[in-house]
Amino acid sequence: MEKKLILIGPLRQVLTLDGIPEKGAVKDEQLQIVEHAGMVLQNGVIQEIGDFDSLYQRWHEQAELVCTEGSQVALPGFIDCHTHIAYAGNRANDFALRNAGSSYLEIAEAGGGIWNTVSHTRASKEDQLVRLTVERARFLLSQGVTTIEVKSGYGLQVKEELKILSAIKTANRMTDADLIPTCLAAHMLPRDFDGGAKEYLDQMETVLFPLLKTEQLSNRMDAFIEKTAFQADVIKPYLQRAKEMGFDLTVHADQFTTSGSQIAVELGARSADHLEASTSTEIDLIAQSTTVAVALPAASLGIGCDFTPARKLLDAGACLAIGSDWNPGSAPMGQLLTSACILATMEKLTNAEVLSALTFRAAKALGLHDRGRLVPGMRADFILYKTDNYQNITYYQGSMLPAAVWKDGKEVVSNNNDGQYI
Ligand SMILES: [Zn+2]
Repeated sequence: MEKKLILIGPLRQVLTLDGIPEKGAVKDEQLQIVEHAGMVLQNGVIQEIGDFDSLYQRWHEQAELVCTEGSQVALPGFIDCHTHIAYAGNRANDFALRNAGSSYLEIAEAGGGIWNTVSHTRASKEDQLVRLTVERARFLLSQGVTTIEVKSGYGLQVKEELKILSAIKTANRMTDADLIPTCLAAHMLPRDFDGGAKEYLDQMETVLFPLLKTEQLSNRMDAFIEKTAFQADVIKPYLQRAKEMGFDLTVHADQFTTSGSQIAVELGARSADHLEASTSTEIDLIAQSTTVAVALPAASLGIGCDFTPARKLLDAGACLAIGSDWNPGSAPMGQLLTSACILATMEKLTNAEVLSALTFRAAKALGLHDRGRLVPGMRADFILYKTDNYQNITYYQGSMLPAAVWKDGKEVVSNNNDGQYI
C-alpha cells in the first residue's frame, strides 16, 4: 500500500505536551512549544514535528503540503473520558425544579431523576439512540474532542443495556471521533426489578458480563458508588468479578459521600470520577495510586455543588483528568473546554494542568497509550486554532472554536471562522 505523507504548516505554535509527567502539578513553563512548526503525518500517525522550513526542505518532494492560513496553534485532540451521551429524553424540568428549591426526592416524585431518562431510553428504538449519540458526538468533535468515552446505564435490564451498547458501537462507525463504550449497568437499582441490589448485580454478572465479551460491546465496567445507588458491600464483589473477567474498572466515586475512591484504588481502577466530597484522606490515597482522578466540573455547574478539589489532588501528586459528564440530569451543557476553564478559575489550575487533563491524562484514564500528546508514533489527532498564542484557547473559555480538527491524519472538521477572534 502506498504510504501517504502529509506535511502541515507553517504553524505559529505546536503544543506537544511532550515531557510533562503523568502525575502531579505542572507549571506552564513545562509546556513544550515548537514555534514556526511543521508536522509530518504518515498513515494517520505523527512522523515528525519540527521547524517548518527544515521539514519542508527534506519532505516537500514526497509529501502533500497542507498550508495553514494565518497564525494557527496546534494541540492534541481533546479526550472526554466521562460521558453519558447515549440517552433519550430531556430533564429541563428537573433543572427548573432544582433551581426553584426542590429536593432530590421531590424531583424523583415529580417523575424526574435517572429513572425518567431510563424510561425514555427504554422506549427508544436502537436506531433513534444511534442518531442521538452520533449528533452529540459530532457536537463534541466540533469542539475538538476526538475521543469520547460513552457509558450505558439508562437501560438497567440485560436487553436494554445491550441495546445501548450496541447503539454506541454503531454510532462509533458513523462519526469520525472514537467512541469508547463503558458498561454502567450499576447506575441505580431499577425500580421495576423484583429483588434487592445484590440480586440485580448477580444477574448482571452472570448474564450481561459474558454477553459483553462475546459480542465485543465493552471492556470497561463502571459503577455508581453512593448511598443512594450501590454501597460498598454489594459493589465490591461485583467489580471484583468484572476485574477477574478482564474488564477495566472505573467508578463514580465520592460525589456526595466518600467510600467509592477507596474501592477504586483498592481494585486498581483506571479512574475514580467526581470526587467532590473527597477529603484529604481520599486525596492522599488517590495521589499514591495509579488511579486517575477525574473532575467533572459541568456536573458541579449543573447541580450547583462544590467542585472536585483539583488543586489539592494535583498538589498531592495525583493524575488529574477532566471530563464533561454530559448527561441529561446533572450535566446537560456538553461543553468540555468551557467547563474545564471554569474549573481552572475556581481551583487555580495552570494552562499546562488543564491541557494535560484534557489530553494525555484523560487518555490514561481510558487506558489508551496511542494518543494525547503530539509526538512521533502517536495518532495524528489534533486541533488547530486560528490564533497566535495558545493562552487564548483557555482565556476565551471555550467560545473560540477550532479552525479545524484532524483525526487519524485526516481533516474531519473545518469551521469557517474568519480567524481573528476578538
Ligand atoms: Zn457520570
